Amino acid sequence: MSTETVESRPGVLAPGGIWRNWGRSESSTPTWIARPTNVGEIVDIVKWAAATGLTVKTVGAGHSFTAIAATDGVLLDVGWIEGVVAVDEALGRVTLGAGTNLHQLPDILRPYGLALANMGDIDRQTIAGAISTGTHGTGARFGGLATQVVGVTLVTGDGSILRVTETTNAELLPAVRLGLGALGVIIDVTVQCVPAFLLSAVERPEKLDAVLAEFEHRATAVDHFEFYWWPHTDGVSTKSNTRLPGDAERSPLHPVGEWWEDRLLSNGALALMCTVGRIAPNATPAINRLATTLVGNRDFTDHSHRVFVSPRTVRFREMEYSIPRSAVPAALREVRALIEDRGWRISFPIEVRVTAADPNWLSTAHGRDSGYIAVHRHFRDDPEEYFRAVEAIMRGYGGRPHWGKMHYHDADSLAGLYPHFADFVTVRDRLDPARVFANPYLTRVLGA
Ligand SMILES: Cc1cc2nc3c(=O)[nH]c(=O)nc-3n(C[C@H](O)[C@H](O)[C@H](O)COP(=O)(O)OP(=O)(O)OC[C@H]3O[C@@H](n4cnc5c(N)ncnc54)[C@H](O)[C@@H]3O)c2cc1C
Repeated sequence: MSTETVESRPGVLAPGGIWRNWGRSESSTPTWIARPTNVGEIVDIVKWAAATGLTVKTVGAGHSFTAIAATDGVLLDVGWIEGVVAVDEALGRVTLGAGTNLHQLPDILRPYGLALANMGDIDRQTIAGAISTGTHGTGARFGGLATQVVGVTLVTGDGSILRVTETTNAELLPAVRLGLGALGVIIDVTVQCVPAFLLSAVERPEKLDAVLAEFEHRATAVDHFEFYWWPHTDGVSTKSNTRLPGDAERSPLHPVGEWWEDRLLSNGALALMCTVGRIAPNATPAINRLATTLVGNRDFTDHSHRVFVSPRTVRFREMEYSIPRSAVPAALREVRALIEDRGWRISFPIEVRVTAADPNWLSTAHGRDSGYIAVHRHFRDDPEEYFRAVEAIMRGYGGRPHWGKMHYHDADSLAGLYPHFADFVTVRDRLDPARVFANPYLTRVLGA
């Protein structure tokens, strides 16, 4: 079907190489790689690919554990489309180039006295990549990053530029805010920010049964609650963060204490635990018990992004399920029984978070207040048996898998979990009828 000539190929395309994601769970060999620096180049690439029958996959920071960003067609890296496009100071809205990394935002937003309303555990992702998979943090009154989006501009399958806001093409907003990369190449994202704020953090070692017994209360009593449970122990590390005005007094961690806990204990010790766990698996319970006594007993107050985000230097693979918030205690007890029954040795703590219900069609929190249970394995360990068994438990609670984290669902099983699944496919048919933005992962989870 190709009528292309070498002359018609956009100059920004270079022969492809091997692409790998952060978790080393996925790799692919794109035929072409493009790093466009302006919208015109993106339009040219999409039109050329559509004409030649190639697919286009936009990648962010490659931090998804699934193959959602893998392609053997054209890999489009929008890393150069970054920074501030526009600021509406009166409304507290900032329009960002799609390739802007979340870690750039504190510097970008500081002059305007603004901040993101909520963040996840890390800030390496791009804004477009993060919203496209439903990246979230914790907080019973707060939604994921995509809920903070009030406008998106994208290049659709025929090379058209489409602006979607609350007033322009508004019916598409619940789809394009969290579009899995299936609806087009996002060029920019308009984010509703909030006045900059501090977080007062209280981190404590506690007992799992006690925390589960009053989980609903704990999850809603503070602005941002989460905990990590150390398998093979009854110990959890809880984090309870309370929002304070931006001009409240800061009492940040001492740099040495921060390095000791966040770098050495949380990451260095975890790396050691994983290594020991592989050489001498039976030592894992004792090591996990030691971990519960070493980490997570501190109080500090700092700028929101410095509290939300932590460094992650140990490479791992992850599966995360969203279930109704009220189901978290029962589901986690089942996971605990599973680990005990199977005799596995699990070094990584299991992370539990919450978010508010939201209206985005493919949000894992669509229409329900949600609890999240995330399981991890070191990237050198095969996670499949563990992840599949945990997934079976989560399916029993109507669990929805994070789009960027490992899972074993397909379009048939996912359709029943999302009331607007068919509506999303209809939007996909409209914006990308020829499936220029398809890849095998999207075909699996959305259908052909
Ligand atoms: C160490 C680590 C910690 C994490 N912590 C959290 C967490 O706390 N909470 C959470 O919810 N998730 C978390 N994640 C998952 C992560 O936030 C998501 O997988 C996120 O999508 C990664 O963003 P990215 O920029 O790397 O996107 P990629 O993984 O590169 O791409 C993800 C999707 O976005 C699409 N995309 C990217 N850019 C564009 C664009 N310009 N236009 C259209 N589509 C685009 C891609 O095509 C793909 O479909 C974590 C991942 C890691 C590795």
